[in-house]
Amino acid sequence: MKIICIGRNYADHAEELGNQIPDEPVVFCKPDSSILQPRNPFVIPPWSKEIHHEIELLLRIGRVGKYIDKNHALSYIDAITVGIDFTARDLQKKLKEKGLPWEKSKGFDGSAVIGKWVPGSLKKKDYQITLLKNNLIIQNGNTSQFIFSIEEIISHISKFFTLKTGDVIFTGTPPGVGPITAGDQLEGHLDGKSLLSLNIR
Ligand code: ZN
Repeated sequence: MKIICIGRNYADHAEELGNQIPDEPVVFCKPDSSILQPRNPFVIPPWSKEIHHEIELLLRIGRVGKYIDKNHALSYIDAITVGIDFTARDLQKKLKEKGLPWEKSKGFDGSAVIGKWVPGSLKKKDYQITLLKNNLIIQNGNTSQFIFSIEEIISHISKFFTLKTGDVIFTGTPPGVGPITAGDQLEGHLDGKSLLSLNIR
């Protein structure tokens, strides 16, 4: 399976990082080795001093598709959840300045946290995603604020990458990204329901 991520999909988050609002989805991938195994803590890697949390809505692909039409895109999803796209912001900044690929800052071991899947087809389009750090809400967004809709994301990605059963799409983070430190406890909610809980070491 592969993990495909969308960057800058909320205008407010693009602005907080000083990025332009994109005219087409920003796409990058994480290797399957980036998945944090369930119930494991996230261990801050020794080579970064600035790991940021990014809570996101996650889509799981349920069947193979290429050049998927927007009108049929939702039928390719078989489950959703929330996840965290951990980002080594200090390293990402360096790589971006040099015009180099971001992969090391986004695809390192443990950087993809996947919550408990809620199976089934999408019954609605607006989802509230929330991240709590030490019981305080630090990120809160609604997918109605997406620059690119779920259908547009799936259609766009499938022009370049054949989507396969089990692939996971990270759909971008709302504003409020920030650093984590050892001892933090993170919890991710989808429409107020806790689907992810994680300790930082
Ligand atoms: Zn992200």
